[in-house]
Amino acid sequence: MKIYIDGKLVEKEDARISVFDHGLLYGDGVFEGIRAYNGRVFRLREHLDRLFNSAKGIMLEVPMSKKETEAAIIETLRANRLKDAYIRLVVTRGVGDLGLDPEKCPKASIFIIADKIKLYPEEMYTQGLELITTSTRRFTPNSLSPCVKSLNYLNNIMAKMEAKRAGVQEAIMLNAEGYIAECTGDNLFVLKENALITPPTWAGALEGITRGAVMELAKNKLKLLVREDMLATYHVYTADECFLTGTAAEVVPVVRVDERVIGDGRPGKLTLKLIKEFRELTSLTGVPIYEK
Ligand code: PMP
Repeated sequence: MKIYIDGKLVEKEDARISVFDHGLLYGDGVFEGIRAYNGRVFRLREHLDRLFNSAKGIMLEVPMSKKETEAAIIETLRANRLKDAYIRLVVTRGVGDLGLDPEKCPKASIFIIADKIKLYPEEMYTQGLELITTSTRRFTPNSLSPCVKSLNYLNNIMAKMEAKRAGVQEAIMLNAEGYIAECTGDNLFVLKENALITPPTWAGALEGITRGAVMELAKNKLKLLVREDMLATYHVYTADECFLTGTAAEVVPVVRVDERVIGDGRPGKLTLKLIKEFRELTSLTGVPIYEK
């Protein structure tokens, strides 16, 4: 496996960062999780825009332009001869001293890993996932904005551990006010009487790329009403259908939440239609890896 790190492709064993990198010492950095399907990188432009916006949010200068970053991703995929892949793009504050001050970190580091990922077992897609509501809250926008996809995932990790302790795979995270923000690594949607609803970013949701694609498909292909709105757990318990979206997870049906059965306890009809539409979209669109 070849890893891209600061302008070079190196073997996995040689892909190293310093113990003085503030990405490691303080979680000071940003990242993206991107997928390639069938030789095309899905919504690459959107991922790069989000990465650069996350970096801007924390005053981190990405050491390459968007064009160069795009070329580096394609180069990494080609070097690993991948057509279907999960790509992790990371920008860290770089090497500094033991203090917090990012001014002591003269140059940010960037690395790209192209690998495979399987988040949930196949039966989760056909039978649906169970969720709990976790006691760990999502960051409030007046601390670190939840729109920044930073290397600080401890809140989400705590929530994930709580889910696993409860015997389920994912958990709903509320914001400080008690409204639903999202799950630990996915956005949440509910369907009620032909309206598809997801929390807005100001409720604490990440502006998910899969979320955006699914909202478009729901509107244009399934002719559903789509809106962003505040949701309480009650609205999930009483929804007709519920599902999660994320680059790694794709679209996953949810059939139980906090021991309440959602709908008839099976993946919803419209959810299954959206999964089909999403698979079609990902296999047909995106930036080609091997042409040019
Ligand atoms: N929320 C969080 C907290 C995430 O980490 C992710 C995964 N990147 C998502 C939502 C889903 O976003 P996307 O569809 O862009 O992967």
